[in-house]
Amino acid sequence: MQKLKSMNPKLINGRLLSEQILTNIKTYVSNLIARPPCLAVVLVGEDPASHIYVRNKKYACAKVGFRSLEYKLSSEIDQDELIELINQLNANDDVDGILVQLPLPKHLDSKIIINTILPNKDVDGFHKYNVGALAVNQPNLCPCTPHGIIYMLDSLKINYHGKHAVIVGASNIVGRPMALELLNRGATVTVCNSKTVNLAKKCREADILVAAIGKPRYITVDYIKPQSIVIDVGINRLSDDVLCGDVDFENVIDLVSYITPVPNGVGPMTIAMLMENTLHCYKLKNRI
Ligand code: NAP
Repeated sequence: MQKLKSMNPKLINGRLLSEQILTNIKTYVSNLIARPPCLAVVLVGEDPASHIYVRNKKYACAKVGFRSLEYKLSSEIDQDELIELINQLNANDDVDGILVQLPLPKHLDSKIIINTILPNKDVDGFHKYNVGALAVNQPNLCPCTPHGIIYMLDSLKINYHGKHAVIVGASNIVGRPMALELLNRGATVTVCNSKTVNLAKKCREADILVAAIGKPRYITVDYIKPQSIVIDVGINRLSDDVLCGDVDFENVIDLVSYITPVPNGVGPMTIAMLMENTLHCYKLKNRI
């Protein structure tokens, strides 16, 4: 199966693309005379998935030659203390990018916390300034997952004009910024959520279908327009510990022109874009 995946020309290989991006960043960093870029990662509480994500992000920093700082905080921390830490990182000239790993414990207001990060240090691109900049097609720092997806689509050299993109999922992290990225490329965009009526019919109109709902193999062949491009953002862990996406990959692949696998599709691109964003913050600060 794994071999088939690596050989199938319909697959958009996020792993390979992300390695190329990371190699380019590493080369850039190795030629810097000044100090390397530095990413500060703030992790609150003990959520096991968050700990894995933060470990992967630190690993990626080391791989490209960035410095990373980790702030592991108790789940009991109060909002003012967390804001104080972010303000210190904002003021710290040795820190280029700041990432607060989400989700935060319920007593913390993630909107206030994210909007405390200086927009030019906001490596996740979640600050309302950066989301607004994307909305008016003046992108500054863009949310990593949709930006990685656009990078993958751009690599196919598709003409977005006249293409209908349907996004299933409307979160601030994936669906909404994905819609803006596609609009900015000139696509016609439909965004669906859990209340959408006749979802399968809408999806069957999609030349580009992005699935980001967090429901294992929910998007079956009934949702697919033949020869479309399908981007599977979902990461779902099944009871046997196997990872799968939101798309019924095994059956859908026969119908489409391109599809992203899970794993090795959108996931590695998200990390690569985080590294790109950290470098972007560094360049903004140093006016490069
Ligand atoms: P989220 O915040 O839970 O949002 C899910 C969205 O999907 C919501 O807008 C929800 O609609 C919609 N939805 C849920 N069930 C639906 C249904 N049956 N039909 C249509 N829409 C439905 O999730 P998220 O953070 O966007 O993440 C989505 C998935 O992507 C998860 O599996 C997550 O693990 C994965 N993810 C992967 C990466 C990566 O790097 N590969 C990055 C981020 C997220 P309502 O708005 O109506 O509730």
